[in-house]
Amino acid sequence: MRPALPGRLVAAVLVAAAVPGAAAAAAPTALATAAYDERPAVVETRTIGRSVRGRPIMAYRLGEPGGRPVVMISTMHGDEPHTRLILQSLRDGDPIGGIDLWVVPTYNPDGLARGTRRNARGVDLNRNFPYDWADLDGRYESGPRPASEPETRAVMRFLREVRPHRVLSFHQPLLGVDTDTKDSAFARRLARALRLPQTTLDCGGVCHGTMTGWFNHGFGGAALTIEYGHRPPRHRMVAEAPRQLLRLLGARRGVAVVEGPSG
Ligand SMILES: [Zn+2]
Repeated sequence: MRPALPGRLVAAVLVAAAVPGAAAAAAPTALATAAYDERPAVVETRTIGRSVRGRPIMAYRLGEPGGRPVVMISTMHGDEPHTRLILQSLRDGDPIGGIDLWVVPTYNPDGLARGTRRNARGVDLNRNFPYDWADLDGRYESGPRPASEPETRAVMRFLREVRPHRVLSFHQPLLGVDTDTKDSAFARRLARALRLPQTTLDCGGVCHGTMTGWFNHGFGGAALTIEYGHRPPRHRMVAEAPRQLLRLLGARRGVAVVEGPSG
């Protein structure tokens, strides 16, 4: 468990976003740094690992540390580049309150740079996880062994440390939220909130070594897959989906009034 931050600190960070300098004396260095970030929603930036070609895989912590963490991941497949706009929009906007949110907009930076589903070694990262791994070839090439890829190991380390309550994995283009999953009631609410169909995703018949399968098997939290279409409208990615997600998760945008400890 992560110890909850005192309300006063949370308030300081949120106020600092609006009044730079005000919290510099009160907040510890790491948090004070966030006050001067060009991205006021970001309270922590972390390089969780590197791709095969050495590109950093970045995670951004948004909102208020101390609550049950939620992790959102996109661009696991490099030829599905649109949903990262949702996560970037959450990262680059106003401060977020009421949630401890981590976003990993670009899980597969080599694939994104090359416009390929798979990583630079031709491995489908969503078949490389060490739960129910199978030796697959072609489109779903699963790698020489479980967790053979540095991108896979980076996300495994990250999720083991953060131990999120929920993991939302964004893909394209199958259009729907997988409701045949660990927390199907939440998945149905999520589908309604995002105006996406409720569906059952069967991984093209080869659900081996997936990230959601690995997480759902080994952790108390629930991971699920969200698929948008081929070309979701930009406004839907940068404005509608972020708003819909925050509302569903009980979060809010803008500088929040947080009760400090009395006395
Ligand atoms: Zn995908």
